[in-house]
Amino acid sequence: MKRGTDVQRKLLDILACPIDKHYPLNLMEFTLRGADVIVDGVLICSKCGRYFPIMDEIPVMLPDGLRNRKEDIGFLEKWSAKLPAQVVHGGKPWSL
Ligand SMILES: [Zn+2]
Repeated sequence: MKRGTDVQRKLLDILACPIDKHYPLNLMEFTLRGADVIVDGVLICSKCGRYFPIMDEIPVMLPDGLRNRKEDIGFLEKWSAKLPAQVVHGGKPWSL
């Protein structure tokens, strides 16, 4: 994981999985604003296999019961070429 001086990156660097508290999460960057702000990306928990989308610069770190399945599936479809296959086809709480 890259370290930066940006506030968003500092936040992303300290996030743990809301389900099992695993830390650190694997960060993937899809699109950036400027040099450093991640607009689209994903955080992946290697312990439980959950993915947490970063959409419009905001990491969505919700427990399964509060997640929006339709939004998550749309996210997987949009970024399926960049996401690891195990996330696209086997990620939790749902996959394609
Ligand atoms: Zn986890």
